[in-house]
Amino acid sequence: PLTTGIVGLPNVGKSTLFNAITRAGAESANYPFCTIDPNVGVVDVPDPRLQGLAEMVRPRKVTPTSFQFTDIAGLVKGASKGEGLGNQFLSHIREVDAIIHVVRCFEGGNITHVSGQVDPVSDMETINLELVLADLETVERRLNRVARQKKSGEAEAIKEHAVLEKLQQVLADGKPARSLELDEEELERIRSLNLLTLKKVLYAANVSEDDVAAPEENPHVQALQQQAAREGAETVVISAQLEAEIVELDGEERKQFLEDLGLESSGLDRLVSAAYRLLGLITYFTAGEQEVRAWTIREGTRAPQAAGVIHSDFERGFIRAEVISYEDLMRAGSQAAARDQGLLRSEGKDYVVKDGDVVHFRFNV
Ligand code: GDP
Repeated sequence: PLTTGIVGLPNVGKSTLFNAITRAGAESANYPFCTIDPNVGVVDVPDPRLQGLAEMVRPRKVTPTSFQFTDIAGLVKGASKGEGLGNQFLSHIREVDAIIHVVRCFEGGNITHVSGQVDPVSDMETINLELVLADLETVERRLNRVARQKKSGEAEAIKEHAVLEKLQQVLADGKPARSLELDEEELERIRSLNLLTLKKVLYAANVSEDDVAAPEENPHVQALQQQAAREGAETVVISAQLEAEIVELDGEERKQFLEDLGLESSGLDRLVSAAYRLLGLITYFTAGEQEVRAWTIREGTRAPQAAGVIHSDFERGFIRAEVISYEDLMRAGSQAAARDQGLLRSEGKDYVVKDGDVVHFRFNV
């Protein structure tokens, strides 16, 4: 499954947030891997449509889809030079699909910040610079190798060399690789380098409990949001401390607690939704008497591959998919009524599954 790595300087609230994520824990029976790796936390993806389907179908079981976070502790200034956990830390970032960068926006008398004061923009820059320097080293090492092949006139090497030189320039300028506009072909040429600054980033502004209701009044949040916007990145405001309290509450209590704070959803829910968007993920549903269930796919996935998320046999033996949008199904009132009204579409292997599709796969075993 896709995963987002949580990074940030020491003392910004990463562990507090990650603990909340682990405590929130999804029904782990379906995700055995998360009990193996203590740095991975899996949470349910909140989706009100599941409730709607469950009320209509009355299944034995309702299963949300899940989202995975990886805790990447240990980034300090100088990591690209091997300080702190250095290279080991950077190699963990290489494995994630996107980055959630936690930035401290809370003051705290008895909590010392590494650089002595709360300064989110400087924190962002410190981390981003480490990632840029690490990428610069990767690119230059590769450049050296490719330069030799280029001399012997290899066509592929000449093209790769050109992309690497462009990258070297922006990185040497202190800018992330993603700030360079590369086309598909160029991206393909450098994919194996797994550049850190090519990954998408989401900023999490960690504020004190007192600030969650009106975060825009916190000047640190404003500064962070402005800087993020300049990079074309999204910011989600959370209070890690508060999230740790919220996960201890059950359904009704939680709703009341959030309402009292003037919030519609928990920070963790907003973080998951934002990460989902960032990674270009969507949800489709299966709805039977046994189970109503949500599934995660990448936007643009065709029906057989979407079926493959459930089971590889579904993909291999795919025949057709019976599809109806969640909205149409709700309007019809039941699956039988939808069928009578001719609202169920029969789609073939080229159908691109949409967010909110309720799908029944037909397949050969
Ligand atoms: P890490 O080093 O980034 O993992 O940071 P920690 O999660 O250990 O947090 C560092 C300190 O900040 C701890 O004393 C936390 O209790 C405190 N802290 C973390 N999040 C919040 C928050 O949202 N509000 C407040 N007031 N303190 C927080």
